[in-house]
Amino acid sequence: MELVIRGKYALYFSSDSKLHFIEDPGIIIEQDKIVNIGKYSEVKKDIVGHDKVGDKNQLLIPGLINGHTHLAMTLFRGIADDLPLNIWLQDHIWPMERNLNAEDVYYGAKLGAIESLLAGVTTINSMYWYPEEEAKAIKDTLMRGMVGPPVISGMNNLKKSLSIATNLHNSEKGRIRATLSLHSPYTVTISDFVEANEYILNRNQECEDEDKLLIHTHLAEPEDELAQAKKFNLNKNEDFPDVNSSIDLMEKIGLLHEYLLTAHCIHISREDIIKLQKNKVRVIVNPLSNSKLGNHMPPLDKMIRKIENLGLGTDGPASNNTLNVFDTVRYIALFYKGLLSDPEIIKAKETFWLATIGGAKALRWKGIGSLEQDSLADIVTIDLKKPHLTPTISSDSLLSHFAYSMNGSEIKNVIVNGKLVIKNYDFDSIIIEKVLEEVEKKTLKLLKKEE
Ligand SMILES: [Zn+2]
Repeated sequence: MELVIRGKYALYFSSDSKLHFIEDPGIIIEQDKIVNIGKYSEVKKDIVGHDKVGDKNQLLIPGLINGHTHLAMTLFRGIADDLPLNIWLQDHIWPMERNLNAEDVYYGAKLGAIESLLAGVTTINSMYWYPEEEAKAIKDTLMRGMVGPPVISGMNNLKKSLSIATNLHNSEKGRIRATLSLHSPYTVTISDFVEANEYILNRNQECEDEDKLLIHTHLAEPEDELAQAKKFNLNKNEDFPDVNSSIDLMEKIGLLHEYLLTAHCIHISREDIIKLQKNKVRVIVNPLSNSKLGNHMPPLDKMIRKIENLGLGTDGPASNNTLNVFDTVRYIALFYKGLLSDPEIIKAKETFWLATIGGAKALRWKGIGSLEQDSLADIVTIDLKKPHLTPTISSDSLLSHFAYSMNGSEIKNVIVNGKLVIKNYDFDSIIIEKVLEEVEKKTLKLLKKEE
């Protein structure tokens, strides 16, 4: 498909993290790539028979990246809220998840994908059961995403999860990727971590760059993670090393490297941050979920200028309770300033970096998170003719609007991999109707089974 996108402004970071601002921009898309970006008057010379999207009221930005979620958990949204993490998981979520079937996950993930797209998110990274169903939901909604079956020692087979991940990785012409998702240090034994790590490191040495797999894990989320991890390992008759932090634990067992993608990193010290930085570990912070579950907040103000591969996640929609990255952006832009009595930290520009190119770096996915030439064509057009986005006078005011004023309701068009997926605020209403109905039915069924 060949498209030309027109806007009032374009705003994006290139892969070297340099901010670009173009007035009266045009973007030319051929197949799945951006082949030209510049002033509309310049790029229009190359236009022959391209379909046109956008107008002179639109801000063009890269599709947003949700670096850590559990997509199909839309099924559990609004159920068992206002509880601590361990009670929420053990007494409510896990019992319902035991009754999940493939179709439940498909519809839950499809709802999550539609919700994400409508809020300008074009790439998600999900860790969840029935990853083939999540991949199918991502494929069917024309989104981009990573999936991964969560490995929990004693519950599922590591080798089988590895084979599912390798089969799904780079499917749908590269639009779907997979991770090996080792759930957490308190649910996966040390020996499973070590075995999976050896496999991944050996495999990554031998394959092409985009075929390399990441290990995705929750890390340093609960405050007593090490105590829980030690107890879990001892119960499985495994030794547990003498370490001071979850980052130390990963270092000790050989996982602190560029193929480790961690979610959360709340309870970490300055020394831990230096180790994450030195070893190029990938980090996704999930501050809304951390707040809601009372897990404290990650030291994002200290990570933001140190960690190169750093992005934002919503976490699952049952612990947030939306998949809207704008909620997270606004929260981090405001929360740390209030907490630390410092209005100069987590600047608007930094939130834009985190939600776009930072997230792409964290997911190790080249070509997304930017509008530079040869990027994959994941583009969002934002209608600036809105009361809450007026006036727009400069690139700084647009960055401020991104961090403090936007909420997703202004997303007019969404393009993923060169295809127009949301057109003029609209996703296929017949599909939405069916998905809403199915999820409602399936959640009621799961609640009934639990009783
Ligand atoms: Zn999570």
